[in-house]
Amino acid sequence: MSRSKTNALRLVMLFAIAATALSSARADDAFGPQATTAAAQLFKLGSLKVFSLHDAQFVVPNDGKLFGVDAGAAAVGQLLKANKLPDDRVTLSVNALLFRIGDRVILIDSGLGSKVNGGLVASLAEAGVSPDEVTDVLITHSHGDHVGGLAQANGKLTFPKAVIRMSAAEWNWMKGQANSADLVKLIEGHVRTFAPGTPIAPGVTPLALDGHTPGHVGYEIASGNERLIDIGDLAHSSVLSLAKPQWTMGFDVDSAVAKATRNTTFARLAKTHELVFAPHFPYPGVGHIVADGAAYHWVPGAP
Ligand SMILES: [Zn+2]
Repeated sequence: MSRSKTNALRLVMLFAIAATALSSARADDAFGPQATTAAAQLFKLGSLKVFSLHDAQFVVPNDGKLFGVDAGAAAVGQLLKANKLPDDRVTLSVNALLFRIGDRVILIDSGLGSKVNGGLVASLAEAGVSPDEVTDVLITHSHGDHVGGLAQANGKLTFPKAVIRMSAAEWNWMKGQANSADLVKLIEGHVRTFAPGTPIAPGVTPLALDGHTPGHVGYEIASGNERLIDIGDLAHSSVLSLAKPQWTMGFDVDSAVAKATRNTTFARLAKTHELVFAPHFPYPGVGHIVADGAAYHWVPGAP
């Protein structure tokens, strides 16, 4: 089986685990997406007001299949323990970004969707925005925890008036994924693709961050002298991904390319000290990547 097929299967399996988690009476013990409290945290970037929106907590087992595939669960567990975290699981936050530029209301990524415990729409309400006010949804990549929220539980579009932007390479890939067929059908009339590197809104530029999926991008947002980069799934765990960027991540479609992208991008961000938004780092997922010997660590904090 090809690597991308294996990874797609893992994703399907994780969502199967998620479904089991939902039917479990002991949700606090379960893996998969856990419902959390709605939250919208405001910070300033130049003249922009930016919200980090909380969608869910996603708990994955430390079974050597996702983090540190080449290093093994024992090494992963040791690193978690050294950071005072449980060594049998990794908890990832699922977060999205929201900001206004002129009359545009722009959302980056859409979370898991209410079908699987995603609370993004409630967090959007905390920010004072209703789904039909959203004009642009920018997608980093087409995994379920980033595009699932484009559909409501009733199968209708969550953001009916929004144009959905993703890279042409990502849209091509998504259209070929059997488990995305229903969502592709729902959104295809609303998708407008781009080539990374050219601004798609004033100060907003998609940047190719290759390896995680065939068309994975981050987004750079510039206002005045300030800049922020939404790194998408370049990194998943604020502890593991930064301490061991060379470890194989089970969700990366092209692992070698993803490792190289992590190395060059982390080095650049540690040097420029650019503000970073990482959708899966602990909420609100805003902070800086700092060099730490041969690797990196996360310093949370919004301006
Ligand atoms: Zn993700």
